Amino acid sequence: MKILTIVGTRPNIIKITQFSRVAARYPHIQHRLLHTGQHYNHNMSDVFFEELGLRQPDYAFSIQGERVVSQLAGIMKAIEGVVQEYQPDLMVVVGDVNSTLAAALVANKMGIKLAHVESGLRSCDRTMPEENNRILTDAITDLFFVTEESGTRNLREEGKPENHIHFVGNTMIDTLVAYDYQIRQSQVLRRLALEPASYALMTMHRPGNVDTREGLEKLLSLLRKLTVDVKVVFPVHPRTLNRLNEFTLYAGIENNPNLILMEPVGYLDFQNLILHARYVITDSGGIQEETTFRKVPCITLRPNTERPSTLTAGSNTLLGFDQEKIFQTVASINSGTYKKCGIPPYWDGKATERIFEVISQLDR
Ligand code: UDP
Repeated sequence: MKILTIVGTRPNIIKITQFSRVAARYPHIQHRLLHTGQHYNHNMSDVFFEELGLRQPDYAFSIQGERVVSQLAGIMKAIEGVVQEYQPDLMVVVGDVNSTLAAALVANKMGIKLAHVESGLRSCDRTMPEENNRILTDAITDLFFVTEESGTRNLREEGKPENHIHFVGNTMIDTLVAYDYQIRQSQVLRRLALEPASYALMTMHRPGNVDTREGLEKLLSLLRKLTVDVKVVFPVHPRTLNRLNEFTLYAGIENNPNLILMEPVGYLDFQNLILHARYVITDSGGIQEETTFRKVPCITLRPNTERPSTLTAGSNTLLGFDQEKIFQTVASINSGTYKKCGIPPYWDGKATERIFEVISQLDR
């Protein structure tokens, strides 16, 4: 059975790190990886292959572009060529980015069975490009691999066939479990002269937060207030950096001794920073899950989340950009009264194994 997995972005790569290793256990499965290059620079892509010791993609492209439609078309064309040559029996797409949707459309148009990893998540917010990618991809998916219970519920409500929905758990947590030793060995705190639990970690990159001057000004105001009491480590996503420069706001966050600005950091360092943070402030999807697994308080600055188990079971709190509530929550973290949290079912490092168990039993 020939399987073609498609990745394009940083979070995609982090969700498939165990695929080749697990696929190799099945003599009748041949697994190949295609990287569209949607994220291409060293610290958003190559660094993960290097430090996680991943086999290089079998097919690698470099398809970027500010214009979404041209980018989708470019990715589809590149994948079409590979599908013609490799003739996979199954294509596997991951997450909710443009590469996910483009690959799904190619599978559909070329008559290849399609599996979607992280299927069924819904923020119910159609202004998010990712939400549209999720809904469109799931509309043409054959095999739904689900990370949390809400995913199963959503897919059932949308009328997807019950026997095609597989609650397998979270492959992003597989990566955390697989590299836990290396994560703990990271020297990033020493390099930054930080003590455990003495700092907050921030990431911010969603268009809803960083694409307007108003959004960026809110972010800068929050940073100014947070850094009165705590050091904030802020690896700046390329999108956010571009927007800060476009609106000539970058100077507004430089020269703050309590703000540690960095380029995006590698996986092992970033996970070590999560592990030892007093709390995390983010608008990322994946980081809501990683902090839940680590039981580190996470404040999510979005009006909604497609990952509700991080709120109900986990360490996440959804606050939008409400400064009063943010500081109330920070106070509860500082005083040790923040909610107690657990880990959602099947976030145990074995999701990739469950996925390949299902795939291995498919008829070719
Ligand atoms: N990440 C990283 N370095 C950083 C910031 C994030 O390795 O400087 C990792 C993070 O731990 C998670 C993934 O990148 O595994 C999340 O990516 P991102 O927030 O860009 O995407 P989203 O999850 O929002 O789609």
